[in-house]
Parts: sequence; C-alpha cells; structure tokens
Amino acid sequence: MKVERILYATDFSEGASHALPYAVDLAKHYNARLYIINVVYDFVKATGIHVPHISHDELFKELTQWALKEIDKCCIEETRGLQNVEKIVLKGIPYEEIIKFADNEKIDIIVVGTYGRSGLERFIFGSTAERVVRRAPCAVITVRVPEHRKD
Ligand code: AMP
Repeated sequence: MKVERILYATDFSEGASHALPYAVDLAKHYNARLYIINVVYDFVKATGIHVPHISHDELFKELTQWALKEIDKCCIEETRGLQNVEKIVLKGIPYEEIIKFADNEKIDIIVVGTYGRSGLERFIFGSTAERVVRRAPCAVITVRVPEHRKD
C-alpha cells in the first residue's frame, strides 16, 4: 500500500484531538506528508443568509489567522520531529472542502474524530465525519473519544 499524503481535519474539538495521534503515527510510519486542515464555515454559502454590513472577506481573514494559531496550539507538540507538515485553513462547508481537498491533493488517508464541536453547527449542518466517510475518494479513519467507545 502506498501512503504518501495524510489529511487530518480538525475543528479544535476534544473529538478531533483524539484523532491527531493516529494521523501523526501514520505519517511517521509511512514517512508521509501530513496536511492539518481546518475549515471555517461559510455561513452565507451554507444558509443563504447574507448580512450586508459585515465584510465577509475581513471576517474570513481574521478567522483564518485565528485558526492558524489554533492549529499551532493543538498540534505543535504532537507533530514535533515530523518534517513534512502543512497547515491549511479553508473556507466553506467542512465535509465538502475536506473531500475536495482530498481529491485535488490525492490524499491517501483522511483522519477525523467521530465527534466534533457540538451545538448549533452540528444541529444545522449534521455530521461532518459521517459525510466524509460516505463520500471520500480514499480511506477514512474515524477515531472515537475514549469515554464514548462503549456506546
Ligand atoms: P462532526 O461529525 O461534525 O461532529 O465532526 C467530526 C470530526 O470532523 C471532527 O472531530 C473533526 O475531525 C472533523 N471536523 C468537523 N468540523 C470540521 C471543520 N470545520 N474543519 C475541519 N475538520 C472538521
């Protein structure tokens, strides 16, 4: 099996954090490039609601800066020693962007948590993990939070 590119998708939730060691160990084992990706929700695209007095470009720029810092915070320790790591922030609907990216970059394995941030986003948009599993062009590893493993 050829594994050259691994995608780890994070929403900075506890669920996603449990998936990170799997992505890192796989990247080490296969000497693969690791892409760490966060997708900033494009609420306008997702809901069709447009708020005219907010500059979406400005907002996205700020959220991108914030997300890049969060990627550093969540992953810097775990990825220490890995040579080939790329941090990427995308805008859109998470499962669509994850799948598009996997397709374009010829990703071999996607790693996600089974749980992300709960609340409004999941209520409105449904499960990212489930949609990624159903539509991904490659293998997907889903990792559960330990206390949920007996559910
Ligand atoms: P969910 O199915 O939405 O509860 O999320 C499950 C997993 O999908 C999370 O643990 C993350 O690995 C991934 N995920 C969810 N939302 C995002 C996002 N906005 N950007 C990147 N990955 C995400």
